[in-house]
Amino acid sequence: MHFKKNKLFIEKVSGLKIVQKFGTPTYCYSLKKLKDNIRNFQKNFGSINPLSCFSVKSNNNLQILKEIKKSGMGADVVSKGELIQALKAGISPKKIVFSGVGKKTEELKFAIEKKILLINAESESEIFEIERLAKLKKTVVNIGIRLNPNIDARTLKKISTGRLEDKFGLTEKVFLNILNNFKNSNFIKVKCLSVHIGSQITDYKPYSRMINVLDKIIKKSKHLFDYIDLGGGMGIQYEKKNKLFDYKKYNLIIKKFLKKHNVKIIFEPGRSIIANCAVLFSQIIYIKNTEKKRFIILDAAMNDLIRPALYGSYHNIIPLIKSNKKNKRIHDFVGPVCETSDKFLTVKGYQHLKEKEYVAISDVGAYGMSLSSNYNLRPKASEVMIENKSSKVILKRQKLFNII
Ligand SMILES: *Cc1c(COP(=O)(O)O)cnc(C)c1O
Repeated sequence: MHFKKNKLFIEKVSGLKIVQKFGTPTYCYSLKKLKDNIRNFQKNFGSINPLSCFSVKSNNNLQILKEIKKSGMGADVVSKGELIQALKAGISPKKIVFSGVGKKTEELKFAIEKKILLINAESESEIFEIERLAKLKKTVVNIGIRLNPNIDARTLKKISTGRLEDKFGLTEKVFLNILNNFKNSNFIKVKCLSVHIGSQITDYKPYSRMINVLDKIIKKSKHLFDYIDLGGGMGIQYEKKNKLFDYKKYNLIIKKFLKKHNVKIIFEPGRSIIANCAVLFSQIIYIKNTEKKRFIILDAAMNDLIRPALYGSYHNIIPLIKSNKKNKRIHDFVGPVCETSDKFLTVKGYQHLKEKEYVAISDVGAYGMSLSSNYNLRPKASEVMIENKSSKVILKRQKLFNII
C-alpha cells in the first residue's frame, strides 16, 4: 500500500478503482505482501527448518489458504469447519494441527479419520476421549499436549493465553502426570509438546522465558518428543510505537534449545503472516459535527471489524485521496451499528473529509473478516485480492436475502 501523488494504491491498482468496482465495505488484500510475509517468515527461521502451520482462525478465506498451501505452509485449525476449509485448500493432513480447549467428539472423530499430523489436546478428559475414539477405530492417534507455561506475554489481557489464570493448556504437574499415565497406551502416542502464550507479542523475552520452561519440563519428563509446537503470537507494527519483533533473537534462542533437544519445531503464525496484507475500504455516509467532536460515520462497522471494540486495538485510518486541508477538531470514526463501542478510531486533527469520500482502515488482514458477524442483520463485506494490476473477488459480498 502506497501513495502515488495523492492517491492510495494497493500494488498497481488505485483504491478509488477498487471501491468503484467492488463497492464498500470491502476487505482488500495484496498478494505480493502475503508472499513477502511468508518468504520473510520462512527466511527468519530458515536455519531451524520448522513446520509452519498458518493459524486459520486469523483468516479463513479459501483463496488465501490456497496461497498458504502453495508456499508449503501447513495449517493450525481450531474447529471442524476450519479443518474442512484447510483440506479444501489442498493443505496436506500431514501438515495440519488441531488446537482448542473444547473439541467435540464429532470434531475429534473427523480429525482422526483425516489422519492429521497432531491433535493438540488441552485436558485429561480430552485425551481420554481421543483414546476412546482411537480404540473404537482400532488406530493409533498422534497427539500433542498443550502446556500452560505460566508466562505473562505482556500483551493485551484479552489475548494472553499462557498464564495460570487462562483457560488454555495444562499446568506442569498435570502435564507430567498425563505423560506418565499414557506412556503405555496402545492407541495414543504423545508426540508433541505444544504452547501458545498469546498474540500480538512484540518482545522476544516472553518467548525466551517460555523456552526455558520447556527446556526444564522436557528434561524432567524424560519423554522423547518428536515435535515442539511453539504456537504463534509474533506481533506486527499496528502503530509506530509498537516495537518490531526481533526474529533474529527468537531464532537464536530456538537454535540453542535445539542443540539440547532433537525435535522438529512447529510454529502456528497467524497475525504475522496476514495482518498487514489487507485494508478495509469504507465510504463516509455522513459527517456529524457536535460541540465536542466531529463524527465520521462510515459504512463499515464493528460487525465487519470488531478488534477496536473487542480489544481496544489500534487500526490507522487512511484517506483514499490525500489533501493538505486540515481540520483540527477531534474526529471519531464510527460505524452505523447501535453500540457506543462501534468506533474504530479517535484522532485529534485529520485532513478535511467530506461525505461520500472513502477511507482505508489498515492492517485488518488478521482477525478482521474471520471475526465478522451479521450483528444488526448487516450482510458481511466482500473480500478482494489484488495481484499487480489485476483485482478479483475472493469472497462475494453476502446478500441480504441469505441472512434474513
Ligand atoms: C490464535 C492462535 C494462534 C495464532 O496466533 P497469532 O497471534 O495470530 O500468530 C496460534 N496457535 C494457537 C493455539 C492459537 O490459538
